[in-house]
Amino acid sequence: MRKPLLTRLLKLRELDRVWRSRVQQENLKRLYFLALFGVFLSLSQICLFWLLDATGSAAEARWREISLLVHPAILLLSLLIGGLTLRLRRQDNPSTAVERLSTLTATLVLAIGLMLTAFDQLVIQGVTPLVAACSITALLLYLRPLTALILFSTALIIGVLIIDQLSNSPALKLSSTMNSLTACASGLLVSWILYRNFLREQQLRKVLLRQREILKARTRQLQFQASHDTLTGLLNRREFERLTESELSRVNRHPAPLSLLMLDLDHFKAINDNFGHPAGDAVIRHVARLLGEHTRNCDTIGRLGGEEFIILLPETDLPQAQQTAEKLRGLIEHSAIDIENGRLQITASIGLACLAPGCPTHLTPFYQAADQALYRAKRGGRSRVEHFYFTPGLDTVP
Ligand code: GH3
Ligand code: MG
Ligand code: MG
Repeated sequence: MRKPLLTRLLKLRELDRVWRSRVQQENLKRLYFLALFGVFLSLSQICLFWLLDATGSAAEARWREISLLVHPAILLLSLLIGGLTLRLRRQDNPSTAVERLSTLTATLVLAIGLMLTAFDQLVIQGVTPLVAACSITALLLYLRPLTALILFSTALIIGVLIIDQLSNSPALKLSSTMNSLTACASGLLVSWILYRNFLREQQLRKVLLRQREILKARTRQLQFQASHDTLTGLLNRREFERLTESELSRVNRHPAPLSLLMLDLDHFKAINDNFGHPAGDAVIRHVARLLGEHTRNCDTIGRLGGEEFIILLPETDLPQAQQTAEKLRGLIEHSAIDIENGRLQITASIGLACLAPGCPTHLTPFYQAADQALYRAKRGGRSRVEHFYFTPGLDTVP
């Protein structure tokens, strides 16, 4: 449903306030091109007067004389406006000055149009310069609606007075008056429409940009959710496997040791049963934080699910991996976890699989090897580290 006219006008007034400096930014660009256009136009008019021969009538001679004064004046004004525009471009916030210069330029364009219309009456009966001035003003400059109303109606009144004074045939006088009215009214209408559209376009662009930012943030969030575990913020199984696969193909091309730790908390079910699920969650988060804080940046940590974690250690041979696994196991064993109604101690068992350099394998046997080692650690009494070592010629799981 269309909103009432008053509401739309108030909305437009609000947009005018919000986008004022953007409008003047655009005007600043346009003023520069308008100045260039003025230079080009006046120079070509002067050349035409020099090149085209006069027919010899007294009125034409007078018209040529005046025109040869007016066009250099237009040239000078255009250069002046161009110079002012260049100066304003260097200012930080030239909105007010640009708005004044735009209004002044529009006034000058219309005044020149009226002046040329008056001089033209010496040789022809018509209002072509006024029509051109109205079109240039309406199309090239963004004027605030009230300014446009004042400028175009003043131009119309002066235009009608000029025609009334200088035109001698009643029929041509009527025709010129009608044409002046059409030019000024169309100029005003076009100026209003373009101004309103510019404001709406800015508003729309702002909304679109905001929506694009929201969409980008949402995409980032979804990407994170798709690759991370919500409870701990660690990588989820799928993302961990993707990264492990790419690391495996790297060591297959450029032989280097690679180790995988599979870590499972001992008797975790009892924590859930005795202290509740939230306490179990707090333990999982605590262990995740501990693992993150005590591994290298290049190590990749994931949560396989439940209370099982997995860590990929690039460029790490068996003794280094064993050392890391022992360090992590000891840290977990010796850290106390604060929960609502007390403190908890927990232990972890770790299965370690290590690839010797130049001993390519695939994800599944690598995983299975770590899993088997973990199973042995559990069977061997828990809170310990067991390993499986892949060496050249041996790539099967024990
Ligand atoms: P073991 O020493 O043999 O590893 O014994 P366990 O009790 O740790 O092993 P088990 O696999 O039997 O128990 C794992 C428990 O982890 C079972 C399940 O209720 C719990 N669990 C799985 N996911 C979550 C979770 O996100 N939060 C919490 N609090 N508990 C979880
Ligand atoms: Mg367990
Ligand atoms: Mg388990």
